[in-house]
Amino acid sequence: MAMILKHFKQILLPVDVRIHKGATKYIPKLVRRYDLRNVIILTGPKTYRIAGKRVEELIKENNGCNYRLFIVKTASRVTARKIEQEIRGDFGEYDAVLGVGGGKVLDVAKVVASHSNALLISIPTNAAHDGIASPLASFKEKGLPISIKASSPVAIIADVEILRKSPVRLLRSGYGDLISNLVEVKDWMLGVEKIDEDYDEIVASISTMPAMLLLKSADELDFRDSKYLKLLVRGLILGGLAINMYGTSRPVSGSAHKFSHALDYLGYGRGTHGEQVGIGTIIMEYMHQHYYGEGDWELLKYSLEKILAPTTAREIGITKKQALEALMYAKNIRKSRYTILEDQNPSKRDFEICLEKTGVAR
Ligand SMILES: [Zn+2]
Repeated sequence: MAMILKHFKQILLPVDVRIHKGATKYIPKLVRRYDLRNVIILTGPKTYRIAGKRVEELIKENNGCNYRLFIVKTASRVTARKIEQEIRGDFGEYDAVLGVGGGKVLDVAKVVASHSNALLISIPTNAAHDGIASPLASFKEKGLPISIKASSPVAIIADVEILRKSPVRLLRSGYGDLISNLVEVKDWMLGVEKIDEDYDEIVASISTMPAMLLLKSADELDFRDSKYLKLLVRGLILGGLAINMYGTSRPVSGSAHKFSHALDYLGYGRGTHGEQVGIGTIIMEYMHQHYYGEGDWELLKYSLEKILAPTTAREIGITKKQALEALMYAKNIRKSRYTILEDQNPSKRDFEICLEKTGVAR
């Protein structure tokens, strides 16, 4: 058996995943299931009021479970290190880190959990990107984005009641991040065809199917409707899972993400990750259609418009010149990840035509 097993990939999947109204109530049961005695609660200043306080109360009610609560103000490795130093002198070991908040809090929670060898329980208060379930933590250091591998959650408690009250801009961003998977997997296929990269259709399907489902309902998309909100959250969690299963961000990050990373590196605009990626998706889908005749950039753009997410550079504070510069810069980001940018090496003029035709920048 051992001989055969070496040819399979062993992956760690979360055991408890809940996406519904009132999911927070499930936390005491988790404490019992994992026999949690000492836990760390990480939350943000705002998210403490929204959900952190409630989680704290639920833990408090569980006699026998000690906890320490930290309010994360800035998401960085330094913050994670400070927390790790503070808990070092405490009683025994911690069994779990409960991250209650948005991407920033969860990123710190992933690192602290990983370094203290504790279980990670993700309790997201918004759904702005697929980081709510992925093992990757993203930080900004000296103004530049970095991404490091940390812990994957053993449980994800997504309370739809809380998520529904999160800023709608963040939900729109989450949708941008989710539909980018459609074009990112096309990039992956290019890697498979042109440079003989590995491929896994199961992972690719997990990445793209939720986006396809939402896109089918483009006409009526509205994240105030819990039916669509649940689909969005499910999709983002599956996106994180796809990263976890494949081992890298390949199934959810290609050329559209390179464009977003370029904007981050250059410090242009004021878009969120999902807004930048959403616009990047329109651009790269157009390019795929232009070079290989596959895709439907108009439908993707239409769906973004439908939920009132930005579809033009101007809406995220970027000029046409800056968008062009970012696209040229994107070609130099992580060249080992094969995408349409490596396959076609589009010129500045090619990008300019794309920006004009798609209406991203005129
Ligand atoms: Zn992303």
